Amino acid sequence: MPNKVLALAGGVGGAKLVLGLSRILGPDELVAAVNTGDDECFHGLHVSPDLDTVMYTLAGLANPETGWGLAGDTFHALGMLRQYGAETWFNLGDRDLATHIRRTQALREGATLSQATVELCRALGVGHQVVPMSDDPVATVLATDEGELPMQQYFVQRHAQPKVKAVHYRGAAQASPSPALARALDEADLVVFCPSNPWLSIGPMLAVPGIRQGLLSAPCLTVAVSPLVGGAALRGPAAKLMAELGEEASSLGVARHYLGLCDILVIDQQDAELASGIAALGIRPVTAPIVMNTDDDKAALAQRVLELGGL
Ligand code: GDP
Ligand code: CA
Repeated sequence: MPNKVLALAGGVGGAKLVLGLSRILGPDELVAAVNTGDDECFHGLHVSPDLDTVMYTLAGLANPETGWGLAGDTFHALGMLRQYGAETWFNLGDRDLATHIRRTQALREGATLSQATVELCRALGVGHQVVPMSDDPVATVLATDEGELPMQQYFVQRHAQPKVKAVHYRGAAQASPSPALARALDEADLVVFCPSNPWLSIGPMLAVPGIRQGLLSAPCLTVAVSPLVGGAALRGPAAKLMAELGEEASSLGVARHYLGLCDILVIDQQDAELASGIAALGIRPVTAPIVMNTDDDKAALAQRVLELGGL
């Protein structure tokens, strides 16, 4: 019997561990369920930034400098859109646009986001399952000192500078897990929380009642990998956001956020002093090198996570 591993992932940080897992697990052994709280409509097109990051990463097409977008992409269409007076703060490459056109077309013709994603992944030769967390719309919205901002406006247009007071997941309470995620929650031998932003990438999933319930009732182990090292995010606003929300901006704050949902939290060796506090919460802390620069780093951390999960 193949193992069944369910990995919950956002974009760039999540995709790194998903890639590592995909090097070890067969296509029928891994389901990567990806955040869609960042999805946004640009130029009339449905853009799913985190799904695309994971899909492009597994396809070997991701831009290695940014982690998102396609390697070697050009931006001529965006320049033309700017000439037409369109807002172009969200970077969409020429080849990347084809993905959004195809997805939007499929959705218009009545496909679900899951079905559209299957088609895109198949065409790019991605064998492992990459699935949206939900086929229902969920929108992460940040209440900030500049008012309410949708996720991409906060993150990309405003460079995560506004001070965040609260994070809302619009639509989450009415959303259901995608069919593939629901199945994976039932069948999983191990659930992995990838090192993605706990509030902006994993948070939207935990806000979907069916996903939270599925995680709470899953009989298998859940292993989370912290996205923070030494109280800082490796990239992005996770630590700043946690501090603004009144949480401790460290792997201990991550542990508190995942309380009741994860059994093991993998933290960096340099955060070993946080281990006793994490253990006191009832989560087993494990130290390991969690910074993934090379593909070997990704596979090594993935291997460690699978071992911790008893696989
Ligand atoms: P986004 O949607 O592209 O912002 O991606 P994610 O939410 O998946 O990833 C952002 C998080 O990934 C940040 O909090 C980073 O600290 C974390 N991250 C990025 N690279 C690494 C890494 O190599 N190791 C770990 N442990 N975390 C990482
Ligand atoms: Ca994202």
